[in-house]
Amino acid sequence: MKLSLKALHYNPVRNIECTIFAGVKILDMALLTVGSVAFDAIETPFGKTDKIIGGAGTYIAIAASFYNNEQNIVSVVGEDFPQEMLDQLSARKVNLQGLQIKAGEKTFFWSGRYHNDMNSRDTLVTELNVLEHFDPIIPTGYQGVDYLMLGNLSPQVQKSVIERLETRPKLIAMDTMNFWMDIAMEPLKETISMVDLLIINDEEARQLSGEYSLVKASKIIREMGPKYLIIKKGEHGALLFHNNKMFYAPALPLEEVFDPTGAGDTFAGGFMGYIASTDDTSFENMKRAIINGSALASFCVEEFGTTRLMNITKKDLQERIEEFVALTNFEMEQVIG
Ligand code: AMP
Repeated sequence: MKLSLKALHYNPVRNIECTIFAGVKILDMALLTVGSVAFDAIETPFGKTDKIIGGAGTYIAIAASFYNNEQNIVSVVGEDFPQEMLDQLSARKVNLQGLQIKAGEKTFFWSGRYHNDMNSRDTLVTELNVLEHFDPIIPTGYQGVDYLMLGNLSPQVQKSVIERLETRPKLIAMDTMNFWMDIAMEPLKETISMVDLLIINDEEARQLSGEYSLVKASKIIREMGPKYLIIKKGEHGALLFHNNKMFYAPALPLEEVFDPTGAGDTFAGGFMGYIASTDDTSFENMKRAIINGSALASFCVEEFGTTRLMNITKKDLQERIEEFVALTNFEMEQVIG
């Protein structure tokens, strides 16, 4: 007897063709991103940069701009932030009405150095600047958004965004980091209890839950509130948990990882951009969203900062998604005797 088993029996490529490549705008769901728009200085074994554009909100917005959504951003920069980058975001249809530009103040600055394995890094400098007293004001025109992506920011800021939205979005996703677990665990847990999907990495999942096993950790974290949990495992892909279901997507093995900064945010932006463009929050569609997020993240790490993401086309993205499908698709002959 011949059985045909397919590891991935969905077709993300067909779906993405519908929403992006056929040139037909099927859905236009609004996505609101809240996250840092920043300057970064990065050191990797391949070299180092002076101040370049970074920030979780920047990466999320660029990644989500590959999909057909109305995109809104709530963030803050100082007067030192280049207008040219704001123009590039606007050109990608990111609505900047909610981006505050603080006269006489400086943009958030973060600097990090990666170890030789490129998986771990040390934060060298964090200058909060405009983020220190950031009050996330939601423009009236942003009310009624369908999807909300809360990038890594203080849990109090994330919570106030949820509270300031008059109608609850269909899906609220949130990212965070160990920094907040160290200094603000209780407010963090309160915000986590208010969201539908938490996106964190394996180390953070272990710290948040106190459990080493990611399966046990996923149960404890989902008891805190979120119905869905994504645990990112860097070069080892990502896991999605919901009820008693689990899905694993690999990361594309790359010859060279040049700079991993922003890969997690790019993943989240691609995930939410895809979910919003398809307006489908089913578990099956989240699998496709994970592949989209992973494909975009695989581009992000190929050059410093946002450079690579800013230069790829939708065709490049589609081809990479096809590589993901080929990587995980298999047929198996099995004799049951
Ligand atoms: P990732 O590599 O996905 O962890 O994200 C890196 C981005 O997060 C960088 O571009 C930084 O500007 C930004 N970032 C780092 N620390 C913080 C923080 N405490 N609050 C907000 N954004 C941050």
